[in-house]
Amino acid sequence: MQLVLVLNAGSSSVKFALFDTQIKGHERDIARGAIDGIGQATRWSVKRYDGTANNEIAIKGDGVSNHKQAVSHILAWIEKNFELSSLAAAGHRVVHGGAQFTEPVRLNTKNCEALRKLIPLAPLHQRHNLAAIDSLTELAPMLPQIACFDTAFHATIPDIGRNFALPRAITALGVRRYGFHGLSYSYIANELAKQNTDLVTGRVLVAHLGNGASLCAMKDGKSIATSMGFSALDGLMMGTRTGSIDPAVIFYLMRDQGMSANDVEAMLYQKSGLLGVSGLSNDMRTLRAAASTNAHAREALDMFTYRIIKEAGAMIAVLGGIDALIFTAGIGENDSELRANIMKGLKFLGFVLDENANKTKARKISAEEGPIALVMPTNEEIMIARETADIIRNINE
Ligand code: AMP
Repeated sequence: MQLVLVLNAGSSSVKFALFDTQIKGHERDIARGAIDGIGQATRWSVKRYDGTANNEIAIKGDGVSNHKQAVSHILAWIEKNFELSSLAAAGHRVVHGGAQFTEPVRLNTKNCEALRKLIPLAPLHQRHNLAAIDSLTELAPMLPQIACFDTAFHATIPDIGRNFALPRAITALGVRRYGFHGLSYSYIANELAKQNTDLVTGRVLVAHLGNGASLCAMKDGKSIATSMGFSALDGLMMGTRTGSIDPAVIFYLMRDQGMSANDVEAMLYQKSGLLGVSGLSNDMRTLRAAASTNAHAREALDMFTYRIIKEAGAMIAVLGGIDALIFTAGIGENDSELRANIMKGLKFLGFVLDENANKTKARKISAEEGPIALVMPTNEEIMIARETADIIRNINE
C-alpha cells in the first residue's frame, strides 16, 4: 500500500482524502473526511471506502481551534487506522500557482515563500492552503508534500486570452487571467481521453457549476479560454460571488457610497451571486424549493442560467463551434432543470436534450442528433493524489 493524503484547507475547514496510489492509473479511494467549523463548533467526519465499516461521524462542541490542530487530528486518525509508514506523501490543493507554477511541485522553503507572495491574488483561499502546508511541515517534517494548483491547467491559454487590455507594465506585474477549477478540468480532460476518445481532439466546453462556478473551453484536451480571471471572482454568477461586473461600480461604491475596499471585497465575494439576488440562500436546492413562491429566488435562478448561456456563447465562439458540452460539480451534476434550461438556451447551436436521460441522471443527456452533452462527476481529490504520486515516483526513480 502506498498512501497519499490529499488536503484541501479552507478558512474554517480541512477536507481530506486518502488514496492508495500503489498502482498508477488504479488509485483506490480509501477514505474521505472533513473537519468543519474550525474555531467554532467543530464537526469531524470520515467515511471509509475500502470495505471497512469503520465510518466515524462525531460532533464535537470545541477542540479544534486552528488548522494545525485539524491536521494533527487527521494524522492521528491515519495512525490509528493504518501504518503511518505507508503514508508516502501529502498532496495539497493550492488555489494559486501564479505565473511560476504551471505544474505540481514538491514543497520546500523556497517554494512556500513564492506561494506566500501570491496570498493577495487569492485572499480567501491561499493563506489557508499554506496554513495546512505549514502545519504538516511542523507535524511530519519528513513527509514529502506536493502542491497541486487550481491555476495550472490554464497555462495553455494563449496571450490574447490571458492578458487584459492594460498597459504592458501592469501586465508585467502579473495582472492577467489565471483561471481556476483547474484540477476539476484536468480530471474531466483525463476522463474524456479514456472514455470518449472521439472527443479528445474536439471542441469541448466544460461547465464546472458548484458554489464556485466557471467555464473552460478545451481544444485537444487543453484549456484555451476560461471565465475566471485574475481572481476566482470573475466570470459567471456564483453562490455568493458576483462574477463579472463593471469595475466602475467599485469606484462608485468607494467614492460615492463611502464603502471601504474591504467592505466591497467582502460584498463581492460573500454577499452577492445567488445569495445577494435572492436575499435567501446561496444553495441551489433551497432556491429551487422557493422559486414557485419567491420572485427574488426565481430571478436569482434565471440570472444564473442567463449568465451561463451568455458566457457559453462567448466560449463557443472562441472554440469556433462545439462538439461537446460537459456539466460537472454540485449543481452541474445534480440540477436537471438548470441543464435543461442551458440546453434550451443553446438550441440554436443544434443541441437537443434527451429529457428522460437528463432526469434519470444518465451520463449522456443529448439526443442522437446535434452536439453531445454529458454529465460527468468531477473528482479533484483523485487528481491531486495522481499528481502527487507521479512526483513521488519521479523522486524515487
Ligand atoms: P459544490 O461547490 O460543487 O460542492 O456544489 C455546491 C452546490 O451544489 C450547492 O449550490 C448545492 O445546492 C448544489 N447541489 C447539490 N446537490 C444538488 C441537487 N441535488 N440539486 C441541485 N443542486 C444541488
